[in-house]
Amino acid sequence: MLDNAFKTVASQITQAQKMAPGSADKVHLVAVSKQQPDEKITAALATGHRLYGENRVQEAQMRWQPRKADYPDLRLHLIGPLQSNKAAEAVALFDVIETIDRPKIAKAVSAEMIKQNRHLPCFVQVNTGQEPQKSGIMPDETVDFVSQCRTQWGLDIHGLMCIPPQTEEPAMHFALLRKLAKQCDVPHLSMGMSADFEDAIAFGADYVRVGSGLFGARLPRASEA
Ligand SMILES: *Cc1c(COP(=O)(O)O)cnc(C)c1O
Repeated sequence: MLDNAFKTVASQITQAQKMAPGSADKVHLVAVSKQQPDEKITAALATGHRLYGENRVQEAQMRWQPRKADYPDLRLHLIGPLQSNKAAEAVALFDVIETIDRPKIAKAVSAEMIKQNRHLPCFVQVNTGQEPQKSGIMPDETVDFVSQCRTQWGLDIHGLMCIPPQTEEPAMHFALLRKLAKQCDVPHLSMGMSADFEDAIAFGADYVRVGSGLFGARLPRASEA
């Protein structure tokens, strides 16, 4: 069953690339495994898929730490907000940190990477909708922040990431992120989720983060049950 879901999403990605002349040559599917039951993770790995996204450090550790040794080609992206007291664990576990969103986190992650001698590619999260409850750097501060991440903290900023507001057309947010990425001179764009990854690809996304569209509905967290 999961095999089919992965095949369907892969063909939707290919189709979206074909339809959009400006799309990326290679689009990476980050399978968002947060709050999914263990048997689905096992089934997803059995399809051969190796790129996964998680939004909480501790939950990701429980799910993936025991599996890391068996899958040396596993790649884990952190796609949720990071607290500085979790920076050490995040740098140790993940392969890419997509959510550098403020100076404090840039600094903490940089210090940990030096300490662990583990220099991971990062993305800067942009709050394209300027929503007060959402993390991410404001659009008009993005160019300066990316530059500061590079020069002051030595971070390897590969791209920008955004989560558009739920109630708005995502297209203008994808367009804004693409424009900012050009201004910052970063090559990669992480945008698009289950509901809108095809649109995101049309705007140049080369990392799409798909959860429920692959795995089905998520289990509630204990705190949310
Ligand atoms: C949960 C999550 C996703 C996946 O959402 P779906 O709608 O289930 O595809 C993508 N990106 C981030 C940052 C998330 O937290």
